[in-house]
Amino acid sequence: MNQERARTPIDWAAIRKDFPVLKRQVHGKPLVYLDSANTGQKPSKVIDAVDDFFRNHNANVSRAVHALGSEATEAYEAARGKLAKFLNVRGDELVMCSGTTFAINLVAYSWALPRLQPGDAIVLTRMEHHANIVPWQLVAERTGATIKVADIDEHGDLDLQHLYSLLTPEVKLLGVAHVSNVLGTVNPVREICREARKRGIVTVVDGSQAAPHRPLDVAAIGCDFYAITGHKMAGPTGTGVLWARREHLDAMPPFLGGGEMIREVRFDGTVFNDAPHKFEAGTPNIAGFIGLGAAVDYLSAIGMANIEAREQELLAYATQQLDGIDGVRIFGRAREKAAVISFLVEGAHAHDLATLLDLEGVAVRSGHHCAHPLMHHFGVPATCRASFAFYNTFEEVDAFVAALNKVRKLLM
Ligand code: PLP
Repeated sequence: MNQERARTPIDWAAIRKDFPVLKRQVHGKPLVYLDSANTGQKPSKVIDAVDDFFRNHNANVSRAVHALGSEATEAYEAARGKLAKFLNVRGDELVMCSGTTFAINLVAYSWALPRLQPGDAIVLTRMEHHANIVPWQLVAERTGATIKVADIDEHGDLDLQHLYSLLTPEVKLLGVAHVSNVLGTVNPVREICREARKRGIVTVVDGSQAAPHRPLDVAAIGCDFYAITGHKMAGPTGTGVLWARREHLDAMPPFLGGGEMIREVRFDGTVFNDAPHKFEAGTPNIAGFIGLGAAVDYLSAIGMANIEAREQELLAYATQQLDGIDGVRIFGRAREKAAVISFLVEGAHAHDLATLLDLEGVAVRSGHHCAHPLMHHFGVPATCRASFAFYNTFEEVDAFVAALNKVRKLLM
């Protein structure tokens, strides 16, 4: 399929040139990077912003009155403002942290641990990433609460009837992925959060796979907590954000103690800073957040609706092509789906497929994708996952399909 056949009004070929790594060859073949759900590639603007910080402005934030200190603090806080706008929330409700894993653990330890008790329950879904399972298991173990799991149907959609039937009075918290990293399923989080809220249940939405791919309005979702990770949305690793309703942030005790999160420290009692700084102990990933701010600017300039439309075209084309290959099984055909295709080829192990695809220059992920319960549900130890971003091309889909055909023959 030609580039020109894309319907979105954007020069995607020019945009692709913004990503230096995409010019690489791998094993003597042009790199076809189909692992963006794992981590996204970075445009020059992000790389340059990080480089510029270290070259020209490097200083710690909030501690120094000198010029560089002010510049660093200003740029770091500007990133918070950009992220707030991107998510449509207030900046003073955003905790800057290392990623979704940290963000969910913060909610688990600071909100849930002091509140839950024996007899209480937490509801999760079968398609959660381990980052939205294990923290709750740790909390359940320490509080005596139990965990209930909402099922999915054969297409990879959440069984909403089942989910709502689990929302009984003992349930205090519901954790749900906005978009599944394995199936691509886009969950109706607005409706789910509304149902939870009616019953007084606090909601934690894992937005890791939503933020890079679709316009977001976190305020409209109506959740209590929303977590994102910067490295999947063109930003540096070790950056992420937890959005929380102000009333929760004010009521929650600090998670980590140290510098930056205090107003006054005395041995007879320490006064904590206000949220969100109360949750940002120690020196943050300043350069990383400046890079993430640049990433948000970059994505916003393209437009998240354009990005979503482009990725939907790539998804539709790739799905159609894979459906034409004998023995390919696709996991997840949800009503609404992000550009992620988990698949297996009959008779081949996922790791063998991924290793041979890599020799053809095609990078896909193989494994359990940090979703063991979902693998158990499908009765497989692992899948291959091709995940697309707006910088991919239809020609790359063709190269991927050609490589898969070749690999399939080798393995048969
Ligand atoms: N949740 C989902 C759905 C993910 O896909 C990921 C990353 O793969 C995470 C959580 C964890 O993100 P991080 O490791 O950046 O904290």
